[in-house]
Amino acid sequence: MTWLSLFELTGRKALVTGASRGIGRMLAVALASAGADVAITARSRSSLAETAAEIEAIGRRAVVLELDVTDAARCRTGVAEAAAALGGLDILVNNAGIEQVCPSLDVEEELWDRILDTNLKGAFFCAQAAAKAMKAAGPHGGAIINLCSLTSEVGVPTAVPYGSSKSGLLGMTRALAAEWAPLGIRVNAIAPGYFRTDMTDVFYADEDWQTNMLGKIPQGRFGELGDLAGAAIFLASPASAYVTGQCLPVDGGYLASI
Ligand code: NDP
Repeated sequence: MTWLSLFELTGRKALVTGASRGIGRMLAVALASAGADVAITARSRSSLAETAAEIEAIGRRAVVLELDVTDAARCRTGVAEAAAALGGLDILVNNAGIEQVCPSLDVEEELWDRILDTNLKGAFFCAQAAAKAMKAAGPHGGAIINLCSLTSEVGVPTAVPYGSSKSGLLGMTRALAAEWAPLGIRVNAIAPGYFRTDMTDVFYADEDWQTNMLGKIPQGRFGELGDLAGAAIFLASPASAYVTGQCLPVDGGYLASI
């Protein structure tokens, strides 16, 4: 055995929510490249075709499932379907998420519920269903990775529902890690810094915003999706066997410097 083999995911079964584009798509392909078969989910099957093709092109199995994470009952059935199709479940990446900036004085109940239901409630019910599948079938123990955010740690104006959901997700990460450690299930989080995706594209159109943000990132550049691959493979694999309840920032040094 070489120490490098600790990062291998060969034979592992993973589920990535919100894998139709952006970070989720990249993470699904990254886990597959490390050897995992991957169930990929989004609100429509058709949106997942390109991710599935990428996974299959590297010789791993892709299971495509429609799963709206705001529907707790569907989280339960969807995760169970993924585990049945893959023959078990070892890794869950709670990536599905939405953001909509809004001054706090204008936030309506609908916006609050939509963001919290997607980013926090959905993550919990997927984790709950995954833990049952991992407990029942997983020979390797389980690893859950939640996509937190800089807003889990710092206050960002006009992002109060989003920041509340992501701070809650960090609290959930720690509490589940403590509760499920005896089950052999590790629960960790990644806090991406600034990555240009459909979710964040609106900010990047503003050159002043870009200049201001780059001044706050010690490495002097925005993240590229591939910057997140190593963190995900580490937290999904035996390389992090004694790490649980932690949130790993992947942010070019932003959080360390504020
Ligand atoms: P994108 O908007 O590019 O992708 C979001 C993904 O979530 C899509 O696959 C979308 O699928 C899915 N999704 C949204 N709503 C639902 C739902 N109700 N049920 C199931 N799937 C859903 O966003 P990013 O890739 O940028 O973000 C991914 C995660 O990373 C999010 O949790 C986000 O908060 C987090 N993050 C992102 C940062 C960034 O800079 N980009 C920074 C910090 C955190 P579809 O619409 O096809 O259903």
